[in-house]
Amino acid sequence: MSEIVHVVVPTPAHSSLSEPLTYASELPLSPGSLVRVPLGKREVCGVVWDAPAEPSAPPPAQLKRVGGVLDGLPPLSAHWRQLVGFAAGYYQRSLGEVALAALPPQLRELDAGQLARRLKRAAAAAGAPAQATRPDLTADQQRALDAIAAQDGPFLLFGATGSGKTEVYLRAMETLLARDAQAQGLVLVPEINLTPQLQARFVERFGADAVVPLHSGMTNPQRLRSWISAHSGTARIVLGTRMAVFASLPRLGLVIVDEEHDPSYKQQEGARYSARDLAIYRGRTEGVKVVLGSATPSLESWQACDRGRYRCLEMPDRVGAGALPAVRVVNMNHQPRGTLFSPPLLAAIQARIARGEQSLVFLNRRGYAPVLACGSCDWRSECSHCSAFRVFHKIDRTLRCHHCGYTERVPRACPKCGNVDVAPLGRGTERLEEQLAELLADARRQDGTPVRIARMDADSTRLKGALEQQLAQVHSGEVDVLVGTQMVTKGHDFRSITLVAAVNPDSALFSSDFRAPERLFSLLMQAAGRAGRDAAHAAASEMWVQTFNPDHPLFVALKKHDFPAFAAQQLRERRQAAMPPFAFQALLRAEARTQEVAQAFLQAAADASAGLEGGGHVVVYAPVPMAVQRVANVERAQLLLESGSRPALQAFLSAWQPVLQDLRTKGLIRWAVDVDPLAV
Ligand code: ADP
Ligand code: ZN
Ligand code: ZN
Repeated sequence: MSEIVHVVVPTPAHSSLSEPLTYASELPLSPGSLVRVPLGKREVCGVVWDAPAEPSAPPPAQLKRVGGVLDGLPPLSAHWRQLVGFAAGYYQRSLGEVALAALPPQLRELDAGQLARRLKRAAAAAGAPAQATRPDLTADQQRALDAIAAQDGPFLLFGATGSGKTEVYLRAMETLLARDAQAQGLVLVPEINLTPQLQARFVERFGADAVVPLHSGMTNPQRLRSWISAHSGTARIVLGTRMAVFASLPRLGLVIVDEEHDPSYKQQEGARYSARDLAIYRGRTEGVKVVLGSATPSLESWQACDRGRYRCLEMPDRVGAGALPAVRVVNMNHQPRGTLFSPPLLAAIQARIARGEQSLVFLNRRGYAPVLACGSCDWRSECSHCSAFRVFHKIDRTLRCHHCGYTERVPRACPKCGNVDVAPLGRGTERLEEQLAELLADARRQDGTPVRIARMDADSTRLKGALEQQLAQVHSGEVDVLVGTQMVTKGHDFRSITLVAAVNPDSALFSSDFRAPERLFSLLMQAAGRAGRDAAHAAASEMWVQTFNPDHPLFVALKKHDFPAFAAQQLRERRQAAMPPFAFQALLRAEARTQEVAQAFLQAAADASAGLEGGGHVVVYAPVPMAVQRVANVERAQLLLESGSRPALQAFLSAWQPVLQDLRTKGLIRWAVDVDPLAV
């Protein structure tokens, strides 16, 4: 006599296998158990799942048998399975794909003996959380914590940069652990590597044993170790990037999402989930409080406060005597053409250097120049594989495609006409650094030595340890001016920076992406947040913006650090145009060797959508090429869906899924659905 068990296995993205699969087992197996099962000619790792409410077909007479069970591992909880089930359904992926991707890769390879040893080690490493140096709370912090203790949430902690949001997270976590020593907390951060300070503060407060990291920069053995200590209940706090939202936490008691507006919470491949949104779902189904924190909340979260779905907790002031920097907007229409640093900005940077203070200059483009061009013919440094220019990197004299990676030495002469006059057009951080060095060649530090400029971007931090080293140089005062991409604006607690400058932020004002102004505003507010964090310097701290559009409402709101005014203006526009958060979107994306094939698939998909459930409330737009149409010789196109009703859009997508799977378009490489896309 054997039992029937239902198992989800790593199915390919758009397989038409109905999930879960059925197998026979000698012993009953509880849902959530990890098993090895045969699939085709292979044996794969799977998770025992709940029996479907309505079995789709009677199981075949001769069921394949479960090959092995990872016993010793407590089963994955019903809550965890519910989260995976929801994510798979909502984001239109298979259960097996989402479930297996949420588990550490090494777990799938262990045998029971190895596993038992790991579990033992995790139990031995478990430590009671330490209690460390704590500051007295500000009145705003106390009020926020009281509200979190008294109400259900979800909460939006709307706190200025430097208002002490992290301290609120730490205390909320302390309260949880004081109430229940077995409880677990989940802290999500956008990019752990960029802001090691947050992790350091949790470790300092709770001890290294209590806090475990979970992010994609870890090796497989490290990930397994963290995962096991979370799953077995020995880790008190899991601190990780978006993938950590799927961590198995049997005693979850609190979820914190820091910088909730950050686009990196949205996964951009495979299951395109939003970890922020899944955190809200997880909190609701597990009855756990969720705190989203930001100085510039996403308009989705802001509007959820307006509608009373989230509770807004405000902390408008910086801790202590710290003040937000004064914003200086320079009208570049009054400067000679081609001016990089306007004279007043340059003078302000020089004044900082003379006083021994630091400046931060950012430009959202790395490399030396975005294009190299011939002076006598129409040659440009186009990538032969993408519809994009290759970027000129002067440091190693290469032309590099930032889309496909194709790299070549810079040609000595124009490849087309032989002219030797080939020149860079526009500028990136490398060139900014070079030009700033020229402009400051004669400036001296207080001790009479030359000015030191450092650059921080994806290129300068590629080598392991380089980022930490560069941050240490800034913190120790070795650097006078830090030049970089938006990487320098994120979350760092710089103490001696008193000037931040955005030299050329205008392009986002005219982007075709309706979220570009929202992103720019948050970037500028975050950048401003790096200046004047130390009360000793706060009075003289400044944020400089050079723009050709000084009267743009975005800059008017920025001058007053007025996020609510900016958000209200944006939401008015979005409401009029029926855009998110007042409408819900999804994209169908297709990739093929030719644009015709990609669009033909999308058109066929649109044609086949007539009459589907929910379709009456869904607008299906025409297929269009993507903004960067060709990458690595693959043509890309997309089709936008829009609806005023989330349930209608969801019903439509579910009904559409099998239709899409059945479409056969010759030459199509792949397709994918992106629900709640961040870039349209
Ligand atoms: P945010 O995350 O809101 O940008 P932080 O949590 O980094 O702000 O706090 C800014 C600075 O203020 C940090 O150096 C932090 O240690 C300090 N700080 C936070 N709360 C307090 C407090 N209650 N008393 C004194 N200093 C505090
Ligand atoms: Zn030429
Ligand atoms: Zn390319």
